[in-house]
Amino acid sequence: MATTALITGITGQDGSYLTEFLLQRGYEVHGIVRRSSTLERSRLSHLYTDESVYNRRLFLHYADLMDPTTIRRIVRRVQPQEFYHLAGQSHVGLSFEIPESTADLTAMATLRILEILRDQPDPPRFLYAGSREIFGTAAASPQDETTPVNPNSPYGCAQAFAVQMTRIYREAHGFFCCNAICYNHESPRRAENFVTRKVTLSAARIRAGLQQTLHLGDLDAARDWGYAGDYVDAMWRMLQQDQADDYVLATGELHTIRDLLDIAFERVGLDWSQHVVTDPKFRRPADACAPVGNADRARRVLGWKPTRSFRSLIHMMVDADMERVSAS
Ligand code: NDP
Repeated sequence: MATTALITGITGQDGSYLTEFLLQRGYEVHGIVRRSSTLERSRLSHLYTDESVYNRRLFLHYADLMDPTTIRRIVRRVQPQEFYHLAGQSHVGLSFEIPESTADLTAMATLRILEILRDQPDPPRFLYAGSREIFGTAAASPQDETTPVNPNSPYGCAQAFAVQMTRIYREAHGFFCCNAICYNHESPRRAENFVTRKVTLSAARIRAGLQQTLHLGDLDAARDWGYAGDYVDAMWRMLQQDQADDYVLATGELHTIRDLLDIAFERVGLDWSQHVVTDPKFRRPADACAPVGNADRARRVLGWKPTRSFRSLIHMMVDADMERVSAS
């Protein structure tokens, strides 16, 4: 019989890759979607419109993270063996504007889901998509599973609560609960208000003559950027182990916004310095210590490693944006 998985955040970047990944492995996949004013679920539309998949091996259920009664009902009905909790307010910068809903959606919603699972006679294995933002201004670099939690944003603080709760439910209640402590991961499905996608889409639009300038903050800011498709593979591997544990997922490589601009604009044959305007509005406080991860545990225990280089990831994103721009 097919393994049944339930995914929150199925319409998001990671949720859509995870859905494809699990369907390829013969899973029955159930996803929680929230009501919105449009039915457009662009990252899932290729599956949603496939009659051999939708309502046969892929099922969508309406609920909201703020509606635990409905989530409880869905869990009872679906009885998943694996539960991937990927939904949340995922933007660090925005969390300063909307700290209360960030805490509700990221911290409290995770606790409520853990409580729902605690009431199940046979709780599913549980994966929480945590963030390296729990380390905030880390004292040392690279960070790993032993790095002290020290968040410096409302998002990081809410994430720290959810990650710690997940660990506590593992240790106190004996649940099979894992935290994926993820460094940034990107793809052509990344939302346009994240810097990688902002750059790749702008490069494509400037090439097509639809835009002249691109406004960015600190060009020397550096991140550890991986490919989202690799990260969902690791999340799945985490739930297939004999023992539940937490794992840092990272490439271990740092790249600056300048590197990102070099690769993206070279791909479209343009010089970024002719188009980029730096804008203090987009600046964040400087990183005291490089936000780069050490994924040795994931490599050793899960046999996981990133498959895509930073250059090929950015090429993939630029090429997809060029196609979108020329199709529009
Ligand atoms: P996205 O922002 O692409 O997806 C977020 C998902 O959460 C969407 O499906 C969204 O639904 C859903 N969601 C948001 N609010 C609610 C709500 N109230 N009720 C139900 N669903 C809701 O994030 P990613 O896929 O990139 O990331 C997945 C998770 O991993 C996130 O929690 C993120 O914080 C975490 N993470 C991601 C990293 C990254 O680099 N991508 C790094 C570290 C952690 P809708 O489509 O309707 O908006």
